[in-house]
Amino acid sequence: MSHLASADPEVAAAIAAELRRQQDDLELIASENYASPAVLEAMGSPLTNKYAEGLPGRRYYGGCEHVDVVENIARKRARRLFMVEGHDIGVNVQPHSGAQANAAAFLALMKPGDTFLGLDLSHGGHLTHGSPVNASGKIWRPVHYHVGSDGFIDMDEVRDLARAHAPKVIVVGASAYPRTLDFAAFRAIADEVGAVVMADIAHIAGLVAAGLHPSPFPHCQVVTSTTHKTLRGPRGGLIMAERPRMKAVNSAVFPGTQGGPLMHVIAAKAVAFGEAATDGFRAYQRRVLDNAQAMAARLVERGFRLVSGGTDNHLMLLDLREEPISGKDAETALGLAGITVNKNTVPGETRSPMVTSGIRIGTPAMTTRGLGVEEARQVADWIADVLRAPEDESVRARVREGVTELCRAFPVYPGWSA
Ligand SMILES: *Cc1c(COP(=O)(O)O)cnc(C)c1O
Repeated sequence: MSHLASADPEVAAAIAAELRRQQDDLELIASENYASPAVLEAMGSPLTNKYAEGLPGRRYYGGCEHVDVVENIARKRARRLFMVEGHDIGVNVQPHSGAQANAAAFLALMKPGDTFLGLDLSHGGHLTHGSPVNASGKIWRPVHYHVGSDGFIDMDEVRDLARAHAPKVIVVGASAYPRTLDFAAFRAIADEVGAVVMADIAHIAGLVAAGLHPSPFPHCQVVTSTTHKTLRGPRGGLIMAERPRMKAVNSAVFPGTQGGPLMHVIAAKAVAFGEAATDGFRAYQRRVLDNAQAMAARLVERGFRLVSGGTDNHLMLLDLREEPISGKDAETALGLAGITVNKNTVPGETRSPMVTSGIRIGTPAMTTRGLGVEEARQVADWIADVLRAPEDESVRARVREGVTELCRAFPVYPGWSA
C-alpha cells in the first residue's frame, strides 16, 4: 500500500495498526473472519469507480460490459453453491450488507403494517428481525418467538404464534443460536397458515455451502445472507429466492432500497464464492465445527454452563448467570489478555443489554489462521483461567503471552507486515 502510505500517512497508520491487531490478537467474535488476499485485491480494485444501477444486460449506465461479466460470475457461482437439485433459484448479489438484504426481502414480501414472526433479539435473533429500534420493527409488525428453557427454539410456541397472528412471513435465522435450524419444521407451520418462510443464513452460510448445515432450500422461499461471516468473503449481502419471486426481490433491492451497487465488492463476492466451492473450503468448515466442539467440551469440563449445553455449529454462548462475572466484564478481561469476544444476552437474562450475563464465542476466524483442536482446547483453558480470576493481572499477563506466541506461529496473512 505504498501510494496510501505516502499520500495519507494518517489513515495508513491506522490501517497498519488494525492489521497488527488482527495479526496479534485471537479473534473469537463469531461473526468475523479473515478474507483471503485475493478477495481483498478484488475489493481494492478500480471497479469501485463504476456506476451500474440495474442488472447485467439491463443497466441504466453505459460502459457496464466488464462489470456485467463480474456480476454474472458472482450470480452463477452463488447459485451453484446454494441451489439444491431440482429446485431452481435466482440470486441477487447487490445488497450492501445483511441488513440491506433483509430490508429488501421484507419490502419484496410484505406491505407496511404486515405481521411477521422472528426470533427474539435477546434469545439469539437479529436487530433486523423486528427490533423496535430497527426499520423492520417500525414499518412492519413483528411478533417474536423464543428459545425454551433448554436453549432450543420452542417450535410449539412458533406454531401457536403462527396460528394466533397469521403472519405474512416467518423469519428463520439467528446471530447467537448454537443449534441447527429446522427449516422443514418452519415450512410445515408456515404452510398451515399461508405464510412465506424467509431464512436468514447470515451466520451459517459457509456451513450451508459446505453441506455441514441443512440447506434452507427447498423449504424456504426466500433466503438472505451476509457474505463476510462463515462464508469468508467481503463485507456484504446476498438474496436468493425461488425463481418466480426474483422479479419482486430484484426491484426491492434496486430501486427499492439501494442505488448503485458496489461493483468492487461484487467482484470480491465472486472470488469468495469461487473459493467456497473448493474442497479446501469444505475442509475448513469441518475444522470450524471440530474446533467449536473441542472448545465447548473443554469449557464444560472446566465447569462453565453453555446455553443449550453445547453447539452444533461455529459458535457457543457462555452462560455466566451463575458466575460472579458479567458479560461486559468478561469481554473486558479477555480483551486485556488478547482474546476478542463479545458480550451477549442469554435466555432468562437478568442484566441489561449493555451488561449482559453471557459471552458469544465463535471459531471461524481462529480456524482460518490455522488453529486446530489442540489449540482450541488451549484457548478454552485460557478463557476459563481469565474468567475465574478476572482481577488477577498475573493470569492475564500469562495468557497474553501465550496468545502472542500462538498468533506469531499462525499468522493471518503470512509475509505481510504492518
Ligand atoms: C450479521 C447479521 C445480519 C446483518 O448483517 P450486516 O452485514 O451486519 O448488516 C443480519 N442477520 C443476521 C442473522 C446476522 O447475524
